[in-house]
Amino acid sequence: MELPHNITEILAKLEKAGHEAYIVGGCVRDSLMGVQPHDFDITTSALPEETMAVFEGYTVIPTGLKHGTVTVLCEGEPVEITTYRVDGDYADGRHPDSVKFTRSLSEDVARRDFTMNGIAYSPTRGLFDEYDGAEDIRRGVIRCIGDADKRFNEDALRILRALRFSAVLGFTIEASTAASIRRNKGLLARVSGERILTELQKLLCGRNAGEVLRAYPEVFAEVIPELSPCIGYEQHSRFHSLTLYEHLVKAVENTPAESGIRLAMLLHDVGKPLTQTEDENGEWHFYAHAEKSAELADAALSRFHASNALRSRVGEIIRYHGMVPENNDRFIRRRLSKHGLPLFRDIMLAHIADDSAKAEFAKERIPLWREIVRRAEELSEQQPCLSIKQLAVSGRELSALIPPSPKMGETLNYLLQGVIDGRFRNDRDELLVQARRFLDKNP
Ligand code: ATP
Ligand code: MG
Repeated sequence: MELPHNITEILAKLEKAGHEAYIVGGCVRDSLMGVQPHDFDITTSALPEETMAVFEGYTVIPTGLKHGTVTVLCEGEPVEITTYRVDGDYADGRHPDSVKFTRSLSEDVARRDFTMNGIAYSPTRGLFDEYDGAEDIRRGVIRCIGDADKRFNEDALRILRALRFSAVLGFTIEASTAASIRRNKGLLARVSGERILTELQKLLCGRNAGEVLRAYPEVFAEVIPELSPCIGYEQHSRFHSLTLYEHLVKAVENTPAESGIRLAMLLHDVGKPLTQTEDENGEWHFYAHAEKSAELADAALSRFHASNALRSRVGEIIRYHGMVPENNDRFIRRRLSKHGLPLFRDIMLAHIADDSAKAEFAKERIPLWREIVRRAEELSEQQPCLSIKQLAVSGRELSALIPPSPKMGETLNYLLQGVIDGRFRNDRDELLVQARRFLDKNP
């Protein structure tokens, strides 16, 4: 296994001082899979104060002394070194009540979640793999270390980690671990909203996200109850051949792997069951479901303590996912002025994903949506005037014509609309003439 120079150096220094030291967890898993690890965690028999003594002269940050973690700056990079430990009881199903240091790597590895995450490696001591994690990685299997029920009861976040790894790595969850996930889904109520959201975002971006969403709908409904009425829900609409939940999953799969747009697609129709009506032909309609869905999505995101930026972006994508776009510059400029290019692009990506997940004939519109995105990008390049700030006249210049009053804002808006629609050129003299005309007609 190729290790970066600073990692080899840290391992060697700890060993030279008479301690055991290994890299462990995600970095070993990734290396065995041939993936470049994003960071290296080191586990050692040295107690935190012993580790600090070994790295005298280095910058050492006592990151989480209580949990045995110190961070050492080595060749400009922070590296976490954690003492072998055993976790105490998990009374709350979230945090161990206490942690105890140990001199046994075997005990340290036993507290870890999955066999693939329980492998340690040292250049001098080789692979330590008590739970056959390497074999599980080779076969693409996620399996709890020890009794799954017990492990999920200790820490329910592991349920979401299992699903997330399955989505990201494309691994299958071993049968008894999977059964335990289904049995213990109720434990997820103990997990904080922030952590649920973090896992969910990574999961949704995984290459296997759709498969996992399909395989565990009831687990997802546990963390997002808004999904529950969507599962198995027949839409009785000629636009749709799929159940509502399957439509949501397909829509997720049809977007680029970015968590904001994928969250939006997962939730974009959750308001449908609440807005359902039936016409005389027995066909169902869902008037104003976009607004309802945006509301429900926001409730879910606020439970997860999502940032305002994420809430607003997801809300706007959902709110506008059903508008009918037109392929003309006037329409596109108006939308660019209202949403800005990034959000307008998201809204169009939502149209594409949504239509890709409907009846066959709906797919015919997709080339048009792509064309509109292309044109929106082109128009944006030209830096068209899309806001009052960009008008060739300022409020100040207009104040010669109008005393300060609500009329001022109205006039500026009128000029902006005219420029966006292509009726006026964004030219100072022309806009002054148009302002005068407007004011004459609307004294
Ligand atoms: P990645 O960083 O790629 O998401 P990772 O496996 O490194 O994956 P981390 O959250 O960085 O995940 O945790 C590092 C290691 O700590 C894991 O590989 C695992 O051994 C252990 N671990 C992390 N979270 C838990 C948990 N909730 N329960 C048990 N062990 C855990
Ligand atoms: Mg990691």
